[in-house]
Amino acid sequence: MAAQTFDMIVIGAGPGGYVAAIRGAQLGLKVACVEREHLGGICLNWGCIPTKALLRSAEVFHLMERAKDFGLSADKIGYDIDAVVKRSRGVAKQLSGGIGHLFKKNKVTVVMGEATLAGKGKVTVKTDKGTEELSAKNIVLATGARARQLPGLEGDGKRVWTYKDALQPPHMPKKLLVIGSGAIGIEFASFYNTLGAETTVVEVLDRVLPVEDEEISAFAKKQFTKQGMKILEKSMVKQLDRAAGKVTAHIETGGKVEKHDFDTVISAVGIVGNVENLGLEALGVKIDRTHVVTDEFCRTGVEGLYAIGDIAGAPWLAHKASHEGVMVAELIAGKHAHPVKPESIAGCTYCNPQVASVGLTEAKAKEAGYQVKVGRFPFIGNGKAIALGEPEGMIKTVFDAKTGELLGAHMVGAEVTELIQGYVVGRQLETTEAELMETVFPHPTLSEMMHESVLDAYGRAIHF
Ligand SMILES: Cc1cc2nc3c(=O)[nH]c(=O)nc-3n(C[C@H](O)[C@H](O)[C@H](O)COP(=O)(O)OP(=O)(O)OC[C@H]3O[C@@H](n4cnc5c(N)ncnc54)[C@H](O)[C@@H]3O)c2cc1C
Repeated sequence: MAAQTFDMIVIGAGPGGYVAAIRGAQLGLKVACVEREHLGGICLNWGCIPTKALLRSAEVFHLMERAKDFGLSADKIGYDIDAVVKRSRGVAKQLSGGIGHLFKKNKVTVVMGEATLAGKGKVTVKTDKGTEELSAKNIVLATGARARQLPGLEGDGKRVWTYKDALQPPHMPKKLLVIGSGAIGIEFASFYNTLGAETTVVEVLDRVLPVEDEEISAFAKKQFTKQGMKILEKSMVKQLDRAAGKVTAHIETGGKVEKHDFDTVISAVGIVGNVENLGLEALGVKIDRTHVVTDEFCRTGVEGLYAIGDIAGAPWLAHKASHEGVMVAELIAGKHAHPVKPESIAGCTYCNPQVASVGLTEAKAKEAGYQVKVGRFPFIGNGKAIALGEPEGMIKTVFDAKTGELLGAHMVGAEVTELIQGYVVGRQLETTEAELMETVFPHPTLSEMMHESVLDAYGRAIHF
């Protein structure tokens, strides 16, 4: 059978691939998107969305526990973990289904099956019904990533979980060990700890949430500890002994190894790109560890072959993947495309308290040679935060003392994952401290703290 021909074939229907496919179709390209498992990729099915649904249940549970603080009563507060998980799976399913509708609306051809590159411009897809041949001048790799499995710490789906198991737990942990305190590890730690699991987090680096500003990490750690989490920094899980109903972890801290028993372990030690069995080697595509090497326009060096999202490396975030998807589609359609600026991509962690940031930390700004002005504002100084019963948190801003450029913003506290976008827009528009100070922020809102933090950097904070 002759190959079906398209202008653009996208491999993978995660937030990178499906967005690239839709944008390409909007621009008049004939587009096919190949997906082997589920529309929406990890993000909608096993990542961003179902975790946020779980965390919402934990948040409501936590608020119910605090009912008295608000003059309310709620007796016999409890939860049904199966129902909590069922809701999360339902939310994921709803959104994944939505991608099918969007593809239909935009006339994107969906091919369900496993794709391999069969040469320049050629894709072979193994489907339930056999093999399909597709061809296009432009191919976009958006095959994403999966959990990193460290030797000895591999998930087994029973007592040692990867994120997929943690999203559909076979049991509710009583004594939980989370290995790794990046966004994924801390979100699960926060979820299970809030629901009552005795939770220990082990981080090999010197602080939790190690990519965040040091002050934010320290603040978050204090809150986690207050909530009963045990945090072991500069520590490493060397070995897991698996037995019926328990796992003994050998944890090294300061050269000393101690053994601790847990009933459940979540391994959240990073991700690896899905680069295997795609036919990349035959085409001469460069791979660095587990990621395809690309230039700023996501070009792989092989004519007509692009790589976007998690397979193309850090930051491993859905919005980065989607933005690259739009850029590549526009490039292919002959439009003026803008490379993604990594330093303008915000990172959000939906633990309790939430953490969000964009740009340089204070330490990184200094390392880069900037003379900085730093502003801070605590939630306790904000009327809305107090009215919400959320007085714990802070907003920190870092400016270039010479030019007034906003180099970075760092937040911890309620709803900061929604607030951060204000600073992202500011950075995109290359705003300065003067413009931010002149901007009117509505009252009473948490966003007023963003204003106050800027004012503080210049000695002008009003409410603290
Ligand atoms: C637990 C968890 C929570 C997360 N939370 C957040 C968050 O809150 N915010 C955020 O921004 N990011 C979050 N992420 C990261 C986010 O999910 C990823 O950055 C994002 O999904 C990357 O998108 P992508 O399109 O590159 O790849 P993916 O979403 O991984 O999609 C790739 C798709 O390609 C398909 N595929 C792979 N190989 C083939 C093949 N050969 N043929 C056909 N199809 C193939 C896969 O089945 C998959 O559907 C989270 C991740 C996890 C694991």
